[in-house]
Amino acid sequence: MSSYEYTDHEYDVVVVGAGGAGLRATLGMAEQGLKTACVSKVFPTRSHTVAAQGGIAASLGNMDVGTEMNDHWQWHLYDTVKGSDWLGDTDAMEYLVREAPKAVYELEHYGVPFSRTEEGKIYQRPFGGHTTEFGEGPPVQRTCAAADRTGHAILHTLYGQSLKNNAEFYIEYFVTDLIMTEDGRCQGVIAWKLDDGTIHRFNAKMVVLATGGYGRAYFSATSAHTCTGDGGGMVARQGLALQDMEFVQFHPTGIYGSGCLITEGARGEGGYLTNSEGERFMERYAPTYKDLASRDVVSRCMTMEIREGRGIGAEGDHIHLHLNHLPPETLAERLPGISESARIFAGVDVNKEPIPVLPTVHYNMGGIPTNYWGEVLDPTAKDHDRILPGLMAVGEAGCASVHGANRLGSNSLIDLVVFGRAAAIKAAEVVDPKAPNEPLNEKSVEKSMARFDAMRHADGATSTADLRLEMQKTMQADAAVFRTDKTLAEGVEKMTAVAKKMTDIKVTDRSLIWNSDLMESLELSNLMPNAMATIVGAEARKESRGAHAHEDYPDRDDKVWRKHSLARVTDHKVKLSYRDVHLDPLTKQEDGGIDIKKIAPKARVY
Ligand SMILES: Cc1cc2nc3c(=O)[nH]c(=O)nc-3n(C[C@H](O)[C@H](O)[C@H](O)COP(=O)(O)OP(=O)(O)OC[C@H]3O[C@@H](n4cnc5c(N)ncnc54)[C@H](O)[C@@H]3O)c2cc1C
Repeated sequence: MSSYEYTDHEYDVVVVGAGGAGLRATLGMAEQGLKTACVSKVFPTRSHTVAAQGGIAASLGNMDVGTEMNDHWQWHLYDTVKGSDWLGDTDAMEYLVREAPKAVYELEHYGVPFSRTEEGKIYQRPFGGHTTEFGEGPPVQRTCAAADRTGHAILHTLYGQSLKNNAEFYIEYFVTDLIMTEDGRCQGVIAWKLDDGTIHRFNAKMVVLATGGYGRAYFSATSAHTCTGDGGGMVARQGLALQDMEFVQFHPTGIYGSGCLITEGARGEGGYLTNSEGERFMERYAPTYKDLASRDVVSRCMTMEIREGRGIGAEGDHIHLHLNHLPPETLAERLPGISESARIFAGVDVNKEPIPVLPTVHYNMGGIPTNYWGEVLDPTAKDHDRILPGLMAVGEAGCASVHGANRLGSNSLIDLVVFGRAAAIKAAEVVDPKAPNEPLNEKSVEKSMARFDAMRHADGATSTADLRLEMQKTMQADAAVFRTDKTLAEGVEKMTAVAKKMTDIKVTDRSLIWNSDLMESLELSNLMPNAMATIVGAEARKESRGAHAHEDYPDRDDKVWRKHSLARVTDHKVKLSYRDVHLDPLTKQEDGGIDIKKIAPKARVY
């Protein structure tokens, strides 16, 4: 057996990940007096959340939008339900939108430097799919922003506050696996310290996975290279399920070539798209909300224009985003970051020329199934809703599910802080700081270290970089915006062959210190089950819903398919089962809740 020595740690709570979700959970846990460690493979403020530009949604109603009331949580709920294409869990969605204003004011008081209105209130901008009067009124200004660097502002503030509350940080530690008891409770995690090669065992009464998305399963993604679905990989290796993985959001405006994001806030501030004929084509597809229809809709329309020969450029393969009609002051004040990105990555001066853009992978609606407290659900339970003790998941890694089949812009940052906070509230209830930590299950540790050791000494014929590229190209070609029975079936076959090659990996560097070859191989072993669950789930779902647009089944089929998919992945095989959508809101109408007739399924037009 492997002969590794361990450095042992004991905590009440270990949070894996220091993005917005991980830091909000860490801060909340520490504030409640739980002994908390936050473990991250990158320095906290380098987490992908730092790149979030547009903002964070909450129905504060700070901006006059010409309706009697400026905003209401019930309108935010309606928009989120409709955005999700009726796949989100209603209880979780209600929790999100009702807690949102509180969570944003908390951020303000923690010190997030939000942009301000003339009167000094938090500035809010319009974002796609956010409306008034249950979709009947004008677009609402609901997205709170710190210029176009909202995620940056939130991350720095939460990191500072976590340190102030004595949370302990383990930075540049790569968590390889969960430690589980024989009867399926989570007891902690194993981590590899990247700079000195030591192996650490964290014993914890509660583990919170906040490891972010898996955008890097695709070739063109707006997300950081570190977004490799490590939490999903760890969960899959324990035989647990991943939920709704077939729903992958493409952002309409990644810069052509680099994939670098141009925020939806650009269209929120008045930007618009044109095809090769100079036509503002969104007016044709979405007469009411036009360029601010929801993301899947805009991405699909752009793809349609390109496929029908109205794309821009020598290859007719992209679209133009115009900001050049906007006042230079607006661009400088509200969108300074993207003006810079457009210059660097597209060589474009946004004051003078349009930006070449293309739909690019942006967000994973699917993830580790949880309830609205972030507690992970055990898929082996009959009702699929039993709680798995000792494990939580929050942020993009989790699936509560508030985004269903499609997430609205600015609803992720609010998801991070609302559910990071909820996890802390719950942990304070279920974790007893006075109880001793249990001894760790040595068998689980051994099994995980054997995998680590095998990967370290892997001596096959396929390089990690080559196999990763093969996976990314397959996913991009066969599990992207347009999906047919044929492309998906072929895709499943190709991806299965790709996943099988994991046993043929070659790792050239055997050292334990700054071994990026080994780390990238471990990351690839996490991306792979995420990718498999995505494409197999997509092939099985014979309908179109949200981000899953299926050319052979263009309509949504609520009778058969209004259900969450659960994928259990072992090696290259995926076993699917399904879980009911929660249809009941948290609050009954007579107690001030929403009239459920308002959120009954209907066609999703913008
Ligand atoms: C370019 C871009 C712009 C966006 N803009 C917006 C926006 O304006 N509004 C909005 O609502 N949403 C936006 N989103 C979406 C949103 O930013 C993300 O969904 C969100 O930031 C994810 O946060 P997170 O905390 O879940 O994960 P991340 O911020 O990705 O953090 C993951 C953390 O997990 C750690 N980690 C991962 N694996 C391991 C491991 N094995 N061991 C140890 N640590 C590990 C990492 O070190 C990191 O700290 C944007 C996304 C992108 C890519």
